[in-house]
Amino acid sequence: MFIVLNLNKIYNFRLLNLQRIIVVFLLITIVVFPCQSQNANNGIKKIVIDPGHGGKDPGNLGTGRYKETEKHIALDISLLFGNYVKEAYPDIEIIYTRKTNDKFLELHERTQLANDNNADLFISIHCDAWTSPNAYGAGVYVMGMSKLKANMDIAMKENAVIYLEDDYKQNYEGFDPNSPESYIVFSLTQNTYLGQSLQIAEEVQQQFATRANRKSRGVKQAPFYVISRANMPSILIETGFLTNPKEEDYLNSKQGKVYLASAIFRAFRSYKESIDMASIQVDNKEQNKEKKIEIKKEVIEKVNPKKPSIIFKVQIGTYLKEMKNSERFKDIIAEEEVVNETYKYFVGNTKSKEQADKLRINMVNKGFNGAFVIALKDGIRINVKEALSLQK
Ligand SMILES: [Zn+2]
Repeated sequence: MFIVLNLNKIYNFRLLNLQRIIVVFLLITIVVFPCQSQNANNGIKKIVIDPGHGGKDPGNLGTGRYKETEKHIALDISLLFGNYVKEAYPDIEIIYTRKTNDKFLELHERTQLANDNNADLFISIHCDAWTSPNAYGAGVYVMGMSKLKANMDIAMKENAVIYLEDDYKQNYEGFDPNSPESYIVFSLTQNTYLGQSLQIAEEVQQQFATRANRKSRGVKQAPFYVISRANMPSILIETGFLTNPKEEDYLNSKQGKVYLASAIFRAFRSYKESIDMASIQVDNKEQNKEKKIEIKKEVIEKVNPKKPSIIFKVQIGTYLKEMKNSERFKDIIAEEEVVNETYKYFVGNTKSKEQADKLRINMVNKGFNGAFVIALKDGIRINVKEALSLQK
């Protein structure tokens, strides 16, 4: 933009032919390059919804009281979720890895489909199982190695579907889902989209607790093969335990499926809004730089903690390690919250959503592109829309 302005100025003068050619060449370059850089930031246009298992792979069988298994429930929730997205955003292309219960897909085919289609988001939907019927609750996973045995066990169990495939030895280059040594390769995988994956994972987890009233098992990292190969933000959702009779009843009920799908949809909507906002802000950021607009520091209101109140903060990032002493956080005073091996950072503390929005823009301009506003009611996180209606 800087060059364009100067060139326009120059262009007003009489130019030599050679200069004209150079100007035209530069203008073409300028027109072409922003399009390329915007691709990374142009919001969400295409998503892949992956109902786990299918066909000869029933997924987990639960308590055995129902004839529906994990594959049926995962498909029902996936289709409901997809329908909500289609209704709200008709322009978003939705690709399902399977739309019927009799279709068997190899694990690598699922991510391949997402990669081939250049999708902006990959969501794999499953139901959990455990040896004890007491385990219950919903969990959301992002790709990564875990030191926790429980997380590893769940990933190994889901990865074991590879054994049902005919050519698994060729397709997975020797990867053996049951061998711990096989997982070393995952620790070398660089996850470029971890930040965004964590962001949507956290939104889903939040919505499960508030919208679907599920026990939250939090956002965790585990080496699930299916999300390890995705070239885009990707999460794997365990919607609940089919081995827990009460949760199995819920997951088999129409109402349960609707609530879970709508929770995933709400999380998606919130994630999409923040991604869209970030892409607008990136454009604005460039313009602001050139116009040298100084963003005034916002005065954050002091809030009386004794009074029950609604507070807005800006979540600037979720990380898998402590960041407060890092270079990135050098000039930032942020609150830290550690939950399930993840570190979340917040700035601001204001009653005004408007102030929080301004602060968010400020943080985006400082490079925290995924910054988003959160709301708290008496210290408990609630939906921003709900907070605004409570304030009225
Ligand atoms: Zn599964």
